[in-house]
Amino acid sequence: MKVIDHIKEAKGTIVSFEILPPLKGKAIAGLWEHLDPLIEFKPAFINVTYHRSESMFKKKPDGTFDKVEVRKRPGTVGICAAIINRYKVDAVAHLICGGFTKEETENALIDLNFLGVDNVLVLRGDAPRNESSFEPEPGGNRYAIDLLQQVMDMNNGIYLEEDLKNPVKTNFCIGVAGYPEKHFEAPNMQTDLQYLKAKVAAGAEYITTQMFFDNKKYFDFVKACRDAGINVPVVPGLKPITSKKQLTILPRTFHVDIPEDLSNAILKCKQDSEVEAVGAEWLLQQSKELKKAGVPVLHYYTLGKPKIIADVVKKIM
Ligand code: FAD
Repeated sequence: MKVIDHIKEAKGTIVSFEILPPLKGKAIAGLWEHLDPLIEFKPAFINVTYHRSESMFKKKPDGTFDKVEVRKRPGTVGICAAIINRYKVDAVAHLICGGFTKEETENALIDLNFLGVDNVLVLRGDAPRNESSFEPEPGGNRYAIDLLQQVMDMNNGIYLEEDLKNPVKTNFCIGVAGYPEKHFEAPNMQTDLQYLKAKVAAGAEYITTQMFFDNKKYFDFVKACRDAGINVPVVPGLKPITSKKQLTILPRTFHVDIPEDLSNAILKCKQDSEVEAVGAEWLLQQSKELKKAGVPVLHYYTLGKPKIIADVVKKIM
């Protein structure tokens, strides 16, 4: 079932989770240990992130180095199918432009369609760690909207190879990313919103937000979307802070602010177990307020902390 239909048919706020595929070489059992405790909350869907390869340098016996490309977390397509099979819960495959040609993306979409995955979240992806700005793969998509257009084309039976006989039309529900605190490369919020509006006009049926720790940022963003004529559901993305290190890592990586009350409370903690308690309580209060405001979905980035998410969701169900 499509995410948009889950949202339309829901009587109130629904819950969803995001997970990462296991690292290459790890068993899927670890993922089930992570997800099993969360399934009792009947998530409407589970998102699975997508990861590009990264360049690494491997030392050779003569002391020189070889540059190798390593994709540390392959498996998004297979994990989506395994989730549907194990839990009978819908899966949302993330797809990114970065590191993939249009042909590779088309092949992933064909696999997703065969496996009964109805949902994709289309994203640009970021530059590799050792590069300063994003560059698409030769023959790849530059912006999320280009990838979105490729999925829309397939939904209309248009594939890259033009002379296919009666190509099947896929039927993906497409989501896109939105940034309550602005995408870090956008010159200003209004420009960012215009590009977001273009993604919706091109066929995106809902928006999932970057994590935020101050609900006012989300409420202001939804209002700014509506003022700009963006009228699709805006799904808030939520994450607990679980260590002191995240006070600097999260702003640096995701370009989000941490409210002073929260950072002050975390700085007073003596160990990470105390930070987890503070982060969980903050997430609970955020969730309660968002639910009261009637958000369509509470979407949790579970990132290795399923117990905290489970404790919070238990209290708001
Ligand atoms: P775009 O919508 O392409 O926007 C990128 C930038 O370009 C923005 O500044 C925008 O304002 C600007 N822009 C957009 N269109 C145009 C245009 N036509 N011309 C000029 N400028 C334009 N990353 C992963 O690698 N894997 C994941 O699984 C993943 N999941 C995510 C899930 C969510 C909910 C979110 C919020 C992010 C996720 N990301 C993921 C990170 C994401 O890839 C990065 O934030 C990336 O930098 C931007 O992606 P986007 O889809 O928003 O890009």
